[in-house]
Amino acid sequence: MSTPTPASKPAPVVTCPSCKGDSIFAPSNKWRPFCSERCKDHDLGAWASESFRVPSAVPVPDELAGDGDTQNMH
Ligand SMILES: [Zn+2]
Repeated sequence: MSTPTPASKPAPVVTCPSCKGDSIFAPSNKWRPFCSERCKDHDLGAWASESFRVPSAVPVPDELAGDGDTQNMH
């Protein structure tokens, strides 16, 4: 009877997207691919504030295109 036991395999380590540190990518780390709850929280917060900031900073190209139409008056 031979039972393969990959238990000795080390847990894979990935780079934490938030702090760029080592993060254990295994079921034991419930915040993977982040290394900790704080890093996961921080990343989501930065993402949310960035998407909120975009709409007010983007100019409307439709208004610029309409400007050329006024020159074509008959
Ligand atoms: Zn981290």
